[in-house]
Amino acid sequence: MTRNIVIGTSHGSRIPMLSQDTSSLLVLAAVLLVSASALQAQDARDPRTPQRVHRLTSEEYVATLEYWEKQHPKILDVEQVGSSSDGLGIHLLTITDTSIPNADKQVCLVTALHGGPERSGTTTILHLTEWLLGDSQEARQTLRKQVLLVMPINHPEAFFRTDRFGNAAKIDPYTGGGPQHWDLEKLQYKSADKAPEVKAVLEVVDRWKPDVHVDVHGTGLQEYPVDKLGDRTRYQGQTMIEITGSAYSNYALRPWDWRVTEAMIAAGREAGYPSDRFEADAQRSFHGPVMNPIADRTWRGQPNFYTAQYGYAKYHTMVMAFEVGWEQSGVARLRGLLRIGNGRWQDEPHPRLSGRPRQSLHWPLRDRLGKDRRAASPQPSRTLAKAGPLHASRLVSPNGWPGHLLRCDFGGGGRGVDEGP
Ligand SMILES: [Zn+2]
Repeated sequence: MTRNIVIGTSHGSRIPMLSQDTSSLLVLAAVLLVSASALQAQDARDPRTPQRVHRLTSEEYVATLEYWEKQHPKILDVEQVGSSSDGLGIHLLTITDTSIPNADKQVCLVTALHGGPERSGTTTILHLTEWLLGDSQEARQTLRKQVLLVMPINHPEAFFRTDRFGNAAKIDPYTGGGPQHWDLEKLQYKSADKAPEVKAVLEVVDRWKPDVHVDVHGTGLQEYPVDKLGDRTRYQGQTMIEITGSAYSNYALRPWDWRVTEAMIAAGREAGYPSDRFEADAQRSFHGPVMNPIADRTWRGQPNFYTAQYGYAKYHTMVMAFEVGWEQSGVARLRGLLRIGNGRWQDEPHPRLSGRPRQSLHWPLRDRLGKDRRAASPQPSRTLAKAGPLHASRLVSPNGWPGHLLRCDFGGGGRGVDEGP
């Protein structure tokens, strides 16, 4: 089966690449990765004439969003939440079953902070959206239990024009530009005026205080020198080692509970896509400054502070990154994540949290910290307003183990939130 890509037309064509259960009729104004004709496949095997992949245009992208909104007015809302310095829109898709109040739903933010140049991150999110808008039982259940906040293209200037990580001010929306652009004491981004791409994401995080923020990365032309970009189309088969739950550029972008990562990896494997498990596959253990003499024997990963961690630091959002080479794989692994949000988590014993009745579970642990801090509407609760921002530095795991025993204090109120075991 041809695994990658492609794009379509706006006239009722069906996207053939998704797996059977996700093959909802989609009529895209644009196409994503498509299977090649026999002739094309033959050509693709000749390295001198690789099949090229259609390059999604800004017009096709916007037309796709408009089409989806028109087709699914009860579950999809499309909103422009920012624009790049050259005027391209940054869009937020809010997808949920609006017949059910949001108060007891999990909130999952899906971004492509490098999409942008890493095109398969974006096209994977578009395929996930297609699945969410489809009529499978699993998708419908997901929309009853969760609010999906989907931002397929966070860096449109790169996606449609430049294929570079940096925006006009040379700021990469994924990192926010580096530590000098963040005031971590105040949890403020200092360069919002130079990085509307970052600003748009942080505003969505502030508005919704998501339980989970998953940032999807992938393949593209970002490493090609400008003089080698040619017509800026990619070739069929361009892929990478896939990674689930974290990023080699910043190991802090991972779930605090390894069981979440394992569940997503298992979902990918079931669909035929194993993925890299970073230090586990490298068989390395961590190190710190006192271990410098044996640093070459340890895991090279070091935490950093990037845009996605803003939600963690401020609202205890669970953050994670994905590397996607095959869109089907990305969709399968993301569905594995969303399944967790539909059910009761592992051995979680609490049917109600923070005094508020709860219908269902939950992203592990996040609820206890987060639910009473998010009002029914996406506005800060009074509790939150009183409590002030959560300082990441004051998060303490008494046994050094991520998960149930995590406790935290709020900077403003000094109130311990997690009273659980
Ligand atoms: Zn990336």
